[in-house]
Amino acid sequence: MLHFDVMDGDFVPNFGISPPFIAAVRQITQIPFDVHIMVTHPLRYIDALAAAGANIITFHIESADNPETVISAIKAHGIKSGLALSPKTPISAVIPYLTDIDLVLPMSVEPGFGGQAFQQNALEKIAALHQITPKLKHPLDISVDGGVTTEIAPLAIRQGATILVAGTAIFGSKQPEVIIETLRTATT
Ligand code: ZN
Repeated sequence: MLHFDVMDGDFVPNFGISPPFIAAVRQITQIPFDVHIMVTHPLRYIDALAAAGANIITFHIESADNPETVISAIKAHGIKSGLALSPKTPISAVIPYLTDIDLVLPMSVEPGFGGQAFQQNALEKIAALHQITPKLKHPLDISVDGGVTTEIAPLAIRQGATILVAGTAIFGSKQPEVIIETLRTATT
């Protein structure tokens, strides 16, 4: 999958990636787009992101809009929905919504900037979420985003992560294809 970090300069102190950018990339590939929106009002952007080609839209539980409303808006487009939580947010904040979403994303860095070191408390959150997933009636992916490296990957998988998001580890490497393959084949 290709993971896009959409930032509005308000929810996070940084800007990045607009729906037209995603639509432009969609013109050249059909691989799944995992769109992670770090914005104050996610509801405003769902239609545009779905039209741009998003297959999964993940928004933050800390954002201002009602989570159920946002999840419904995403589902109305027939695409998958996800909930992200920042490092300081406990998993109890997302538990009420796990039956309605396809993906949960405990962030392992503060949202907004690449290049940060992985925060170990994300591993505990992954493990706690992994305990809950068998009790749900549908599959729930556990994604981890922020500071994921080839060293971190096995630790996250061991706790139950099913999707690894890597930016700096791949784009900062002279051999990105080797890093991607190492991450894809990582096991505990
Ligand atoms: Zn992200």
